[in-house]
Amino acid sequence: MSRTLDDVNVAGQRVLLRADLNVPVQDGRVADATRLERLMPTIRELSEKGAKVIVLSHFDRPKGIFVPELSLKPVAEALGRILGKPVAFAADCVGAEAENAVAGLNNGDVLVLENTRFHAGEEANDPAFAAALAKLGDIFVNDAFSAAHRAHASTEGVAKHLPSFAGRLMQAELHALEAALGNPQRPVAAIVAGSKVSTKLELLNNLVTKVDILVIGGAMANTFLAAQGYNVGKSLQEADLHATALEILKTAAAKGCEILLPQDVVVAEKFEAGAPTQVVKVNAIPANAMALDVGPATVDAFIKRLPEIKTIIWNGPLGAFETKPFDASTNTLASAIAQATKEGKVISVGGGGDTVSALKLAGVHHDLTYLSSAGGAFLEWMEGKILPGVEVLSKGFSNLG
Ligand code: ADP
Ligand code: MG
Repeated sequence: MSRTLDDVNVAGQRVLLRADLNVPVQDGRVADATRLERLMPTIRELSEKGAKVIVLSHFDRPKGIFVPELSLKPVAEALGRILGKPVAFAADCVGAEAENAVAGLNNGDVLVLENTRFHAGEEANDPAFAAALAKLGDIFVNDAFSAAHRAHASTEGVAKHLPSFAGRLMQAELHALEAALGNPQRPVAAIVAGSKVSTKLELLNNLVTKVDILVIGGAMANTFLAAQGYNVGKSLQEADLHATALEILKTAAAKGCEILLPQDVVVAEKFEAGAPTQVVKVNAIPANAMALDVGPATVDAFIKRLPEIKTIIWNGPLGAFETKPFDASTNTLASAIAQATKEGKVISVGGGGDTVSALKLAGVHHDLTYLSSAGGAFLEWMEGKILPGVEVLSKGFSNLG
């Protein structure tokens, strides 16, 4: 287990805090500050305990060179506004510029360093660059779960040089994920949907060995249905993955994982908002139609199972939710899960870029036990991978002897 802020005295220490400041910026202004708000507990705690807080982050993809438009300066300003006190900024994350800025800090001050990806050593995890970062701090705290699937200098390399700890956001994320898949209350159900089997192969293969019930929806379900011999008309599906889909079903059967595939689907001849739709059984999909959402009987069948389920983990919208009315099943299921969660009947954890958008549109993104905004890191964790940025928090410093 990773050590946390409960395990260290930070007063008077220079704390190098790896955050994820990779927020949407438009015309030099932060367009969505959600990620910054979620960092507040850690930054406030460190500052109130008298640490010198030195924030480290990547921003976008400058590929190892200085790109003025990808400066973290406007993000540092937004961070200061949310924090309600001045946040200093250093125009480089290593070298004299950064060292001078750090030397000027008083206990409780907060400093943001410039984009780590302005240096090629960041993504290369160059040991010299990691050492230059480490030189700026006495302690390393990682609060960027969303970047923890990458072994970069600011997520992995630096932790080998300093005593390392999980920040509060990282801690909450690890706790939620542990409760959902590491050591869950059973039975545990996973809902996996979205567009493609190909992008979720490892995830499906891992989940069938770990969960009791696996619900497959979205366009991904079309591939499974087609593999089983159903005619899916013009639906999005992956014909080259039929054998793979059948293999997954076989593994599930061997492992005692019950698979729930759609019984009915919502079809349309045109994929556009407000297109005329029809609900059909999966054995009656018209040749000229596309399945764009799972049907009401399918959602009902799963909602009826909810009372027996203790833990739910959800990745992938059940339909083409961006286009109405193909958001209907996702919304119905989201409401039912939110309700069961609020009543304390189930632990629910969701994640994935489009999943977060869909649950926001459904208006339930505050009602799950935990909704991960970590994207790629969340998916890799669902695949059963050990994330280098997390692993190093429990091993890191002691590794060096
Ligand atoms: P996440 O980003 O949460 O991991 P994915 O990227 O795998 O999710 O899948 C989301 C996408 O899947 C959405 O763009 C959605 O429109 C699409 N999708 C879901 N069901 C269907 C369907 N039946 N037909 C076409 N697209 C679908
Ligand atoms: Mg996506």
